[in-house]
Amino acid sequence: MLPFADALQRIIESAPLMGHERVELGHGVGRVLAEDLMARAPLPGFDYSAMDGYAVASSCFSGTGPWSLPVHGESRAGALAAPLMVGSTCRIFTGAPIPEGADAVVMQEDVTREGERASFSVAPALGAHIRRQGEDLAEGAVALGKGTRLTPFQIGLAAAVDRSELLVARRPRVAILCTGEELRSPGSAATPGSIPDSNGPSLAALVARAGAVPMLVPRTGDTLEATEAALRGALRGCDLLLTVGGVSVGEHDLVRAALARVGAQLEFWKVLIRPGKPLAFGRHGETLILGLPGNPVSAQLTFALFGMPLLRAMQGDRKPMPARGRARLHSALRQHPGRTGFYRAELQGDLAITASNQASGSAASLAHADALVILPADSAGLAAGDSVELIRLAEL
Ligand code: AMP
Ligand code: MG
Repeated sequence: MLPFADALQRIIESAPLMGHERVELGHGVGRVLAEDLMARAPLPGFDYSAMDGYAVASSCFSGTGPWSLPVHGESRAGALAAPLMVGSTCRIFTGAPIPEGADAVVMQEDVTREGERASFSVAPALGAHIRRQGEDLAEGAVALGKGTRLTPFQIGLAAAVDRSELLVARRPRVAILCTGEELRSPGSAATPGSIPDSNGPSLAALVARAGAVPMLVPRTGDTLEATEAALRGALRGCDLLLTVGGVSVGEHDLVRAALARVGAQLEFWKVLIRPGKPLAFGRHGETLILGLPGNPVSAQLTFALFGMPLLRAMQGDRKPMPARGRARLHSALRQHPGRTGFYRAELQGDLAITASNQASGSAASLAHADALVILPADSAGLAAGDSVELIRLAEL
């Protein structure tokens, strides 16, 4: 029986690193950088104006104002600016290069234009409204570090430092094998006692969210031969194999036996979590294996808590664990100490309202939850109003 943190650490530590590949910038979001992305040139690349206005030399503003200067030329975004004529001002627009000789920009709202002259009532501060070359990133600076899981904003920065391609970790391929005589595809003809396979689609979506490639393999019934054959097929060409169901000790729980027959090395854990069931972890050659319980809440939560960080670690993600937040409990929450508890909750502002039905069979309560409230294993519970740690499901 392993505590939650120990089980998670052992799984993460065993993560084999994927190789890398180049992807177009547009396909980079959610991928993990496999190299430090350097700014090859300063960002911004040249001094430019942050305002529409007039470029000036601040030395023209001695004594008391107002000051009147002749307007010579203009600088527009996307073109080279001519040097500023001594004693003059130059019309300038946002994003346009600062002309040589200018050291400040006066915004047009503060300038009175009189034909070919401009009148200034306030002397500009040196450097006013000028964005300096390299003020965001110096040449050679690391724009984005290796191991960054790319957000849309980071795609923007990669583009700003002039990349059209990114070196990222290869996406792990994840075979998903659901077991159980009773399972059928959602939407297919119901037969007595059959149920739709709800874990397969959910796990595939979670795998994709973790940046990996889900491969749903044909489901298998509850015979040792069929399960063994399905495992042999599923183990080909994947980096991680998920089996679903059949890992408890019931008569029809054949996955463990079938895994042994195909030569998988298993470390079996009963992880001390609630809800939870046995979680099998092992490997077959280079392929890792997670044997998830069949119960949908247990299967999906166990994968979210262990499988997603594992897939992220396999991609070299520097932050493979989901961020944790805090909220105040709306009502008291009790548990028998001994296992780390993950309780489905809705969030309203900083209040966590735990679902009244925490049964591991309640798929609806998981689907409607915003967060998992976490009670440490040694806790017997918390009172209403107490601060509690949580994982937001949207941040998984
Ligand atoms: P097992 O771990 O195979 O004993 O399954 C435990 C419970 O989860 C049983 O009620 C199964 O019918 C159900 N179950 C197993 N696999 C799935 C699945 N892929 N989708 C929905 N329910 C499942
Ligand atoms: Mg089963």
